[in-house]
Amino acid sequence: MSDHLTSVRPAALDRSLCDGRIWLPGDPGYDERRLGWQLAAELRPAAIVFPHTVDEVIAVVRAAVAAGLRIAPQSTGHGAASLAEQDLSSTVIVRLSEFTGVTIDAAAATARVVGGTLWQDVIEAAAPFGFTALHGSAGDVAVAGFALSGGVSFYGREHGLAANSVRAVELVTASGELLRASADENAGLFWAVRGGGGNLGVVTAVEIELLPIADIYAGMLLWDRSHASDVLRAWRDWAADAPEQVTTSFRVISFPPLPQLPPFLAGRDLVIIDGAVHTDNTDAERILAPLRALEPELDTFARIPAPALTAVHMDPPEPAGAVSDHRVLSTLSDDAVAALLDLVGPGTRSGLFMAELRQLGGALGRRPADGGAVASIEGEFALLALAMTPVPEAVAPGLLAARRLCAALEPWALPAQLLTFSETLGDGSVLFGSARERLAYESLQVDPRGVFQANHPIR
Ligand SMILES: Cc1cc2nc3c(=O)[nH]c(=O)nc-3n(C[C@H](O)[C@H](O)[C@H](O)COP(=O)(O)OP(=O)(O)OC[C@H]3O[C@@H](n4cnc5c(N)ncnc54)[C@H](O)[C@@H]3O)c2cc1C
Repeated sequence: MSDHLTSVRPAALDRSLCDGRIWLPGDPGYDERRLGWQLAAELRPAAIVFPHTVDEVIAVVRAAVAAGLRIAPQSTGHGAASLAEQDLSSTVIVRLSEFTGVTIDAAAATARVVGGTLWQDVIEAAAPFGFTALHGSAGDVAVAGFALSGGVSFYGREHGLAANSVRAVELVTASGELLRASADENAGLFWAVRGGGGNLGVVTAVEIELLPIADIYAGMLLWDRSHASDVLRAWRDWAADAPEQVTTSFRVISFPPLPQLPPFLAGRDLVIIDGAVHTDNTDAERILAPLRALEPELDTFARIPAPALTAVHMDPPEPAGAVSDHRVLSTLSDDAVAALLDLVGPGTRSGLFMAELRQLGGALGRRPADGGAVASIEGEFALLALAMTPVPEAVAPGLLAARRLCAALEPWALPAQLLTFSETLGDGSVLFGSARERLAYESLQVDPRGVFQANHPIR
């Protein structure tokens, strides 16, 4: 709970901040800009600004603090749902979507990623040097919000959470100072920001380690939902023995009959397994053979350039509205499989667009010695239940459907969550686990008045 003084004086903000790229409620253009990528997240801040430089970020932070306002740093708004559950009437959203850039240091195998830069821009810049990075399924998610909230990649079981690939962070703190945090400088802040993210300051650059991967064996296997039971049980057994070079996802998806979708998706209830196998082709084919033996209707697994991995999961190409619920599962017993299929299996009408199980384990479950606040995730599978909300009336039934599925799987759930999959204002002790107290302490050192407001608050 913040003790920040919140006298609501948005008019006190200088209109020339960010060269005039500032919008207040009632301004023409405020409504188009207040929403982020996640359109179901109704953000109504006291102001929204779009800085283009570090100096502009510093000026905004100083002006907001002087006006008694709080600050919510943001890059794309993919993770905006739990921010929208908070009171933003005295908050300035600092959206860094127009402050971007990436520099690759091939000799050091690192990338310096500015402000709100998207993963796709980073992996395309890294590709000519034979590198990629621990990005997630969608290329239009920003590095900052993903990597500083953990971040589960299709390279994750081999290389761990994306937060562990962060080498240094530059951020503007509540005092309006630009600090660099790394293992050697401001080490406490460096520990905290790798998990605490937007609770500590506005991140203006992140330095990440790159992976020496130029191409990858990746794709999807697709069946009609009538095969859900066989495919889920086979995938569950296969996942238990799969090598760490493999990270996959199992989904039951109901596509609406939209004309812009290809015929093999439009209006269909499907089961899809997708992901990446980081081995040579011979080993990848041997590893995937038990799943291919289930005779998928479509099999796109093949060697592809690393930047093409973000197309495999078929995430929505444009901003979209959705509501979801999430659990981390310790295991997927026969009873758990039955509970899942009862709600999303053949012949059911769950009201969900998608029920996803993301394969965890391997390096995702191991905490490196030099890890930050969020450095590993226990459990074998991450469950995400998601309903699309093309109209506001779809929010309540969508949430109900998502919560119903997660409640049914509760007996196998751990008291843990992935920050990046959690779209509700959750219990801090579940979200941050044993790191919570030290996170609160580190945040008090740089932000004693609780100026910063993240999607997942730490105090
Ligand atoms: C289509 C889709 C696919 C996804 N796929 C995956 C996946 O494969 N794996 C996975 O782990 N997650 C995935 N996610 C979740 C995603 O990683 C999170 O929503 C993530 O937080 C988004 O980061 P962002 O910066 O783009 O979003 P934002 O909403 O802009 O940021 C989320 C939070 O991060 C912090 N933040 C962002 N930028 C800054 C900054 N510059 N300075 C300080 N704090 C900042 C803030 O606290 C902010 O509230 C997916 C989400 C979607 C919608």
